[in-house]
Amino acid sequence: MIHLLAPGDQQATANLVASALARSCGQDLLRPSGYAELRDAAAPGSAWVLIDPRPEWTAAIARLLQARHKLLVFGHISPPLAELLQMHCEPLSPAFQAAAACAPAPSFASSESAARVVYSPQAVQRIAGHAPAMAERALRRYDFTDEWNNLGFGAIASDDSPWALAQLAQLQPEHQLASVEANGQTLSAYAGLWTGATSSLLWFNRCAGPIDSQEWRLVEDFLSCHRPDELPCWPVLAEVPRGFDAAVSMRLDCDEDIESARALWKTYQEQQVPFSLALHSKVLADPAQHRLPREVLAAGGALLSHTATHAPDWGGSYAAAFEEGRTSADTIREATGTSVRYAVSPFHQTPVYARLGLADAGYSGCIGGIIRNDFDFLMARAGVPPGSATGFIGHSQQCMLHGDCMLADGDPLRIFKQAFDMACAGGAFFGYLDHPFSERYQYGWTDEAQRIAAHVDLIAHMRRRGRVLFANEQQCMDFLLDRAQTRVQAEPEGFRITPPATPRTPWAIQLRYRGQSLPVPAGGLLS
Ligand SMILES: [Zn+2]
Repeated sequence: MIHLLAPGDQQATANLVASALARSCGQDLLRPSGYAELRDAAAPGSAWVLIDPRPEWTAAIARLLQARHKLLVFGHISPPLAELLQMHCEPLSPAFQAAAACAPAPSFASSESAARVVYSPQAVQRIAGHAPAMAERALRRYDFTDEWNNLGFGAIASDDSPWALAQLAQLQPEHQLASVEANGQTLSAYAGLWTGATSSLLWFNRCAGPIDSQEWRLVEDFLSCHRPDELPCWPVLAEVPRGFDAAVSMRLDCDEDIESARALWKTYQEQQVPFSLALHSKVLADPAQHRLPREVLAAGGALLSHTATHAPDWGGSYAAAFEEGRTSADTIREATGTSVRYAVSPFHQTPVYARLGLADAGYSGCIGGIIRNDFDFLMARAGVPPGSATGFIGHSQQCMLHGDCMLADGDPLRIFKQAFDMACAGGAFFGYLDHPFSERYQYGWTDEAQRIAAHVDLIAHMRRRGRVLFANEQQCMDFLLDRAQTRVQAEPEGFRITPPATPRTPWAIQLRYRGQSLPVPAGGLLS
């Protein structure tokens, strides 16, 4: 059982963390718990995820650490808990706030905050014997204005939100996994690990924990593979299907034109990489734009909806989002004969009402995720978003391959290659996007030849990873939906793993458990 406990004023944060945990461990192992359950906890062998634990809960936490448990603590450390963990904590300082700020990115360059999280690779080995998926990260960074972080993760803020650094903290060196550093100085601890004879405690200095970056892999490894011979473990559902070293999907968001993507499509055919088009259905008013979507479909590609009017925030209301979803699906069906099942958010803006409107209009999921807005939609793993019902998933694909993001210094594709490598190290299904040229705009590309060369270079980099699954976006989302609907249930003899009875793709779910990568066992019982 994985208990999740947060005080009454942090229930919204608890919902974020619950969504992230369910995306990794399934919906069934998670138990929202109250303080009385923590205080009276008798049976060993549980995980407790605690957000901002109240000072009054410290005695119960100390008792938990004396039994066979795993504890995850996210956020603020109260004075009595700080004493127990031999920590020293202070509020955020103006110097920290200045170091956490980040200017918008200029063209052909990135912009990063001075403050960075730096992991100690050696210390991180103590979790599960792996190096960290992200050895280092800026608290905030941009590759396109102040909107896109092509490395895919969300910001560690400096306000009083759950996304902020919770406090400036100092740990005993033997407990520290990661620190916040700026301008050659250490400002705070960011993550720590306490291992006792009977228990382990992993802490992140952020109320939401690392749910929106590949640092999340540390949480997955802690639950699934940390001290497997001594402490309880829970299986994690891998996002990359079994038998592959990496998984990738791409799409072009057709805001203003579709046919102009033909040259790039030809390249993808030569590369034998599936191609997907997210259609702003207004563009289909011109029948000349119907040809390429039909040809892409016939050649094994996929179509998605990219709204009816490309309105910011899906039109600003549930009703508008529902209409955007419904009418764009109707128009795409009339023009191409196919029914789209997944959508891509314009500007990656995906507020809660838009997810609900899309689900009600018949969609099974949406692609978005961006550092600028709708932070709860940006997550390390795909799955049911906070506030949505099962049957509708979100997938973060914050990696925009544009000409104006080609770096002027060094390898122009350095950030994109790093984004893919980071996704692989974290175990994420990687997605990226570009846009077809229009009469008005070329997204910073000099010409089609430069664009094609960049795409080919990135594909070559990805292939070097080994056995890479290149999937079209519908296959990608179908697999992630199957994964989100795979049940993991605790039974006396082990864990019962039940993928959907009729899988939507031929690819098999892989599990990570007790230091191993495993298939779903025959008969379903993992023991
Ligand atoms: Zn768009």
